Amino acid sequence: MKIKVHPPTYSLFFILLLVNPLMAFQVFAGENCNAVRAQYQCPVKKHRLHLSFDDGVGSVTPKILDVLKRENIKATFLILGNKVDCKQYKPGKSLELCKQRFNTLKRIKSEGHDIGSHSYQHYHHSKLSLAELNKTILDSKKILEPFFTTQPPVFRLPYGDGWFNQKDQPQVMEALKKAGFEHLGWEMTAYDWNEKYQHGDQILDNVMGQMCKGRGRDGVVLFHDGVFENEHEGRVFTANNLARWIPKLRCAADFVPLTDVKKNFKKR
Ligand SMILES: [Zn+2]
Repeated sequence: MKIKVHPPTYSLFFILLLVNPLMAFQVFAGENCNAVRAQYQCPVKKHRLHLSFDDGVGSVTPKILDVLKRENIKATFLILGNKVDCKQYKPGKSLELCKQRFNTLKRIKSEGHDIGSHSYQHYHHSKLSLAELNKTILDSKKILEPFFTTQPPVFRLPYGDGWFNQKDQPQVMEALKKAGFEHLGWEMTAYDWNEKYQHGDQILDNVMGQMCKGRGRDGVVLFHDGVFENEHEGRVFTANNLARWIPKLRCAADFVPLTDVKKNFKKR
């Protein structure tokens, strides 16, 4: 049987083969998982990984949804209430962008991802008065209630503030519980918000390192699809590179639904 190879692809393969044989085979034959696992010292037995995204909805969220759809991965999106509360805007560009974000929120739900609250405002919750604390939690519940996918509904505190320091600041977790939420922390973090890692594969290195180093870790990994300071943008670097990182992550992990790694949440 004759195999037809398009001339530019054919020549590109041989140029790559001369320059970097490993890359040639990775590009043309899919991911070389042996090499990936060796690089990060990952075991052959796969870890269980669940992707989560904070600070959205952002303008890049649809791009992330496209990647997840193609890869058949269900993730969890922790939404900032104020990003999708469109009644705060007068007619104009901001309102139009808010409506786009609201439509993206509907798409997140219709594509089978889990949705939780990242509060209404991106405050340090342990620094709030009790009245402010309850208001931002309940405002997010009001706007996001139709979109929650779990019982109890998921909440992730901005900066993890009130979660990792709950011994000293118990009022935050108490307020969440009173509002009917359950907090979702993370076992691994990509540090993708930090510009110093927004080069090459450093963000992938962060996750692979935490997942495979030592005894390794399973569970939820924290990424970002939004930028909380800016109503329009998202985490552009993450959105642009996620498609490249997923096949490498898959060499060492199976992507599993939230309810597989967190038994305290049930699907609604
Ligand atoms: Zn956040």
